[in-house]
Amino acid sequence: MINNIISVKNLVKNYGEVSAVRGISFDVIEGEIFGLLGPNGAGKSTTLEIIETLRDKTSGDIWVNGFNLDQQPDEIKKVIGVQLQTSGFYPSLNLLELIQLFCGLYNRDVDGMELLDLVNLKEKAKAQVKQLSGGQKQRFSIATTLINKPKIIFLDEPTTGLDPQARRSLWELIKGIRAKGTTVIITTHYMDEAEVLCDRVAIIDSGKIIALDTPEKLVDQLVATGFERPKEMKKANLEDVFIQLTGHALREE
Ligand code: ADP
Repeated sequence: MINNIISVKNLVKNYGEVSAVRGISFDVIEGEIFGLLGPNGAGKSTTLEIIETLRDKTSGDIWVNGFNLDQQPDEIKKVIGVQLQTSGFYPSLNLLELIQLFCGLYNRDVDGMELLDLVNLKEKAKAQVKQLSGGQKQRFSIATTLINKPKIIFLDEPTTGLDPQARRSLWELIKGIRAKGTTVIITTHYMDEAEVLCDRVAIIDSGKIIALDTPEKLVDQLVATGFERPKEMKKANLEDVFIQLTGHALREE
């Protein structure tokens, strides 16, 4: 049976005169990777932050894991994992100490080394965040979303600014998290990323959802209108050349 772990109905958010979100509705199915795509300023972060209980909405109804956002926000907080900005982490603590600190905040008992191993950062347990590469920082930030063993994690542009190897490594990590049954909501500007990762995507523009389906169906619908790419695509692109030449392995030091 399909279980909607998130339901958003007619969500509206105004910042004074600015209508950031203009009545959007969508469901997220338990266990899927759901992508929110759209240009800058489309309303993606606002929508995510409202669902995460971090921002007030103007109107609309939201349910997360069966809990209504207005009535039981604390229950929602218990089942979600939110990515924290690594810049906000205590600079003097190492990765293991930071995880222990978060365990205390969430009142959870987690094996820090096991968690670091999951995100391929065991060797960096004694390092500080500032000593990590961009990809490592993102992987650590994703690890922190998992501390409270959430049913859903929210990732806001997790691969922005990363090199191709680090992006691919993060995709594998995110797929691995989903494979363990965690629902993932992700925003991204990269359509190749959405195609590889997302089971379904919603395309948002100017605060409205203008398309919602699997990436494959959205492409098929466009092709059915007679659309063709102007030039026949080669079997590889420059990113494939780059990865072939420089290897798949992470190069972070
Ligand atoms: P996205 O994540 O898709 O880039 P945002 O949700 O950040 O979009 O922003 C949607 C719109 O709301 C934009 O026009 C943005 O300028 C505006 N906005 C976002 N946050 C605020 C805020 N705190 N105060 C006023 N306007 C905001």
